[in-house]
Amino acid sequence: MLTNLQTRDVETLVHPYTNLAALRETGPLVIERAKGIHVYDVDGKPYIEGLSGLWCTALGYGNEEVVEAAASQMRKLSFTHLFGGKSHDPAIELAEKLKEMAPVPISKVFFAGSGSEANDSQIKLVWYMNNALGRPQKKKIISRQRAYHGVTIASGSLTGLPANHTDFDLPIAGIFHTAAPYYYRGAEPGESEDDFATRLAAELETLILREGPDTVAAFIAEPIMGAGGVIVPPKSYFPKIMDVCRKYDVYMIADEVICAFGRLGAAFGAPVLGYLPDAISVAKALSSAYFPIAAVMVPEIMHQALLDESRKIGSFGHGFTYSGHPVGAAVALKVLEIYQRDKIFEQAAAKAPQFQARLKAFADHPLVGEVRGMGLIGAVEMVADKATKRAFDPKKGVGPKAMAFAQEEGVLIRSLGDSMAVCPPLIITPDEIDDLFDRLGRTLDRTLDWAKRENLL
Ligand code: PMP
Repeated sequence: MLTNLQTRDVETLVHPYTNLAALRETGPLVIERAKGIHVYDVDGKPYIEGLSGLWCTALGYGNEEVVEAAASQMRKLSFTHLFGGKSHDPAIELAEKLKEMAPVPISKVFFAGSGSEANDSQIKLVWYMNNALGRPQKKKIISRQRAYHGVTIASGSLTGLPANHTDFDLPIAGIFHTAAPYYYRGAEPGESEDDFATRLAAELETLILREGPDTVAAFIAEPIMGAGGVIVPPKSYFPKIMDVCRKYDVYMIADEVICAFGRLGAAFGAPVLGYLPDAISVAKALSSAYFPIAAVMVPEIMHQALLDESRKIGSFGHGFTYSGHPVGAAVALKVLEIYQRDKIFEQAAAKAPQFQARLKAFADHPLVGEVRGMGLIGAVEMVADKATKRAFDPKKGVGPKAMAFAQEEGVLIRSLGDSMAVCPPLIITPDEIDDLFDRLGRTLDRTLDWAKRENLL
């Protein structure tokens, strides 16, 4: 029996990423308020936000300093824009701050409203740059299977997950997907992690040579793949991939939408994974999700191309109404100030060993095929048979069942196939980390009991 709110929900909303038919039976979980790492439903039941919302609420909820930064900016200047020669202090200051924090030389910052918009803009900028540089044939973009870069027509094409393509007529032409660095399922028998990385780099090179290096413009990669299952690449993977990109003059874009701002215990994820990109996309923890804001951080070669092109054709024809929204910029500035003042990244690094130890202890659980993670992000992959790595039949819905048990245990997480992803707010305390993993342990036990009853093992 659905409550009044649940009934009104299913009669009015198209929910993103939801089995809409199933939701009509179960009704949604309606969240009312939040504080720290907890959210509370309409009945007052607390849940640990085990995925930081959607990998984004790094500072947790109810941070009064951030609320005040938003409110005072709204009072002072709730909106102005950056089109046609206008500007404002928060956008200028935030761009300066991002340039200062960047792990590679960044010349300019273009603001967007979401990760999808940022990655879409990255593609458009690369196309624009290569037209300006007089090489209009160099336009193809290489992404990876299991990648997540967004859902707009172009960024959804970069995404390498079937659900984002099926029935949407994606990907668009000119976008290619190479193998993910998913050692657990991608390695040949007996292949070392290093050999696996060498093979993947060789596969990338083969793809570039097949298409023609003068037609391949860019490669895009998350340091650690998030929505694709929290895939942590072998240590030598990115250095080898970078060598291939450099050899064929392929522009490297790091999608840092999840990894930037402390998730891996550092300001940015790419250097932690051993690569230095040309351009970077950030969103999510940029504002700790207190306001939708994203940024495209570009090098001087890109900026020069934009300048040259504007001398030829005039106005740069790209931008969103909310590119550099003053409230978003003010919120992000406050969030970045708090990260630095409270040493949030260093503290995340200090808590990572406990977090990873608790995560990795699940490797012994009978339901678990692999655990993987780094910093304050991880995943537990559940399998029908540990020895053979046999996966469950996706139709049995083991992941969603585990997610439902976790919810009963008072933790919100996401299932990605049969992997449970965990990515709590960076402000989580050591005691709360233990509480989170105790609840996830009970979740695994209950999922195992259920799977046995259903004869899934
Ligand atoms: N890139 C990555 C790595 C992401 O995880 C996401 C969102 N989960 C996006 C891009 C897209 O961001 P948005 O949903 O804000 O468009």
